[in-house]
Amino acid sequence: MRQPVSIPGKRTAILLILGVMSMLVCSVLWQGSTAVISHSEEGHIVMLDPGHGGYDPGAITSQGIYEKSINLQIAQKVKEMLKPSGIEVFLTREEDIDYVPNGVEGRNVKKQIDLNHRIDSSNEAKADVFVSLHVNATATGQNSGAETFYHYKAESGKRLAVLIQQELIKIPGMNRRSAKPGDFYVIKNTSMPAVIVEVGYLSNPKEQKKLQQSWYQEQLSRAIAKGIANYF
Ligand SMILES: [Zn+2]
Repeated sequence: MRQPVSIPGKRTAILLILGVMSMLVCSVLWQGSTAVISHSEEGHIVMLDPGHGGYDPGAITSQGIYEKSINLQIAQKVKEMLKPSGIEVFLTREEDIDYVPNGVEGRNVKKQIDLNHRIDSSNEAKADVFVSLHVNATATGQNSGAETFYHYKAESGKRLAVLIQQELIKIPGMNRRSAKPGDFYVIKNTSMPAVIVEVGYLSNPKEQKKLQQSWYQEQLSRAIAKGIANYF
């Protein structure tokens, strides 16, 4: 009587141990495989570059509105909108700063140091795309609407610019401009597909008002985020 009872007892214990072990192995494998799947699906990295900052305000209106502030506000909104898709988003600046060390003199030298820092941090982050955000301004107040620029030699940059611009022109009342080639420093010197989005004209009185409002900034940000997501 004893033996038949004790042997199944041992067997049960062994089976239980084996069962727990195989569950552990399975759970480790399962976690590993989901991690790999999520990495391949969500592994895109975006570098958003809110233009100007710190010593450099960018365009300024007579009412004292700075381009650098609008650029940062929109970049932060684009980041928030891209987050749920699993795309990793970095900003070249999270606050009102520049990357020029104290004591450096000369407008062009300062500008180049600042831009090189942004390009370098995009390379270090291994960003898949670089999107620089700006607001346009002209001497006259006539021009309006968003424009996206790509480097004229960059095919993938062109595709990204076209996809963003396609979304921007869907905004009600937006000028129907197309993506344009350009030879600007940041889109020329980045190693990944890069574009400059000029979200509108601060020199246009009507657009200037809209550009400061968060509902309009949200429309612009949603279009930019959608264009980037479509690119991937
Ligand atoms: Zn600018």
